[in-house]
Amino acid sequence: MSQSQSQSTANTIGKVVCVGRNYAAHAAELGNSVPSAPILFMKPASSIVHIYANANDNVVIRPDEATYGETHYEAELCVQLAKDLCRADASEAASAMGAVTLGLDLTLRGLQSTLKEKGYPWERAKCFDGACVLADWVAPEAFGDLRAVNYQLYINDTLTQDGDTRLMLFSVYELLADISHAFSLKAGDVVMTGTPSGVGVLHAGDKLRLTLGEHSWQAVVK
Ligand code: ZN
Repeated sequence: MSQSQSQSTANTIGKVVCVGRNYAAHAAELGNSVPSAPILFMKPASSIVHIYANANDNVVIRPDEATYGETHYEAELCVQLAKDLCRADASEAASAMGAVTLGLDLTLRGLQSTLKEKGYPWERAKCFDGACVLADWVAPEAFGDLRAVNYQLYINDTLTQDGDTRLMLFSVYELLADISHAFSLKAGDVVMTGTPSGVGVLHAGDKLRLTLGEHSWQAVVK
């Protein structure tokens, strides 16, 4: 276990809850309508890979393209809970915030489209090993109100996704409250809060850089 991993919050991650179409511009770029309530799906703990700010050997691994098709990146603000939440309101959700970071919700887009057309669940496209990339956890106090946070994904030094949580359809706190009415969130659980516009295909050798305020993480795509 690396030093930064041992410094992450003490709670282990039971589940990763993901939110679809939480930015109108991203819903539009995939030809989807804007939802009236958050669209939820999950990734299993087995899909998580960590990247570290102090490491120069971070790797993001795509499933074999010839077999599974293209892998898309989705940069997202991620939060980890410090407390259990069950049928909470937004202010209770705000007080349960344990840690914040950026993540990549990796998606087999062609396979997801096929599954959506058939009305099938998305796990085959969203839950593969390595499909949930999480950077080091940062104390939430560094950001104050999570409804006004900017974050970026650069690919090969080009700004590719420019996130602004002011543009979320459902704020971080509203999301946590809403999820907690669908099922309990436990301390340690992670919520990926949805991706802004600019999603696209990962290519072998791409150099990724995620930035969140003064924090920055780099990884190479395999
Ligand atoms: Zn996503």
